[in-house]
Amino acid sequence: MNTRRIRQLVPAFEVTEGAGVTVHRSIGTPALRNLDPFLMLDHFGSDDPDEYIAGFPDHPHRGFITFTYMLDGHMEHRDSMGNRGDLRAGGVQWMKAASGVIHSEMPQQTDGLMRGFQLWVNLPASEKMSDPAYQEFSAAAIPEVIRNGARVRVLAGEFGGTRGVIDDPATDVLYLDVALAVGADFSLPLDDARNTFVYVFEGSARLAGEALTQHTLAVLGSGDTVEIAAGEAGARFILVAGRPLGEPVVQYGPFVMNSREEIEQAVADYRDGRLVRTRAAMTGH
Ligand code: MN
Repeated sequence: MNTRRIRQLVPAFEVTEGAGVTVHRSIGTPALRNLDPFLMLDHFGSDDPDEYIAGFPDHPHRGFITFTYMLDGHMEHRDSMGNRGDLRAGGVQWMKAASGVIHSEMPQQTDGLMRGFQLWVNLPASEKMSDPAYQEFSAAAIPEVIRNGARVRVLAGEFGGTRGVIDDPATDVLYLDVALAVGADFSLPLDDARNTFVYVFEGSARLAGEALTQHTLAVLGSGDTVEIAAGEAGARFILVAGRPLGEPVVQYGPFVMNSREEIEQAVADYRDGRLVRTRAAMTGH
């Protein structure tokens, strides 16, 4: 057994969105442009009722997936596939923009709280111009595994024989929300065929003897097992892994393609009202 160690620590970069709410961005910053297949990780949140996030009115995406996980509060959304709703606390939304989606995302507080994550997952060249797709599940639908003081919510992929609700065939994403009680630890067989990161958002933890603190993303090195122990006040973190694509990444704002020509096409399509080519049905509950 070869325990995976920390390869790189990336302190999140504070980005101000809307009227003062801080977004902590870790992937998609100068310190970590991307972690194939992941293009961006934003941790947004506020516990100040006077702060709010202005939200993101209609905007386009092409070439990748937006994977949103609400911890507190909720997010009103609508998109060009015809999906319209309100993602509640604990719920997860997987939106494959692929050839093109225009959507709005408007996070809202509940009892003064609003927290969540948005992860951008790249698509392989063969999928970038495919039809959009959508999966959304409420908190009640997400399976939990309780083991040795750990409570693991399986959003995507598989943990301890339990399969998550989101199916991500292109890059085989594993997405776990792990809460560790004081004194608890967590281990998972996970080899380095998939790029893996851990992001602590409550308390602190230790991985192979090294500290994991809040708002710092840890990229894991090679090995076949991940072992994480709770810090003095317990810990809550997301652990995410995905199979790298190994393809060129050319990004221009909300468009992520393989070449400049494809980006120019996306910009022209959006300008000419041709970005949205197909609508797709919603799955999930
Ligand atoms: Mn968006």
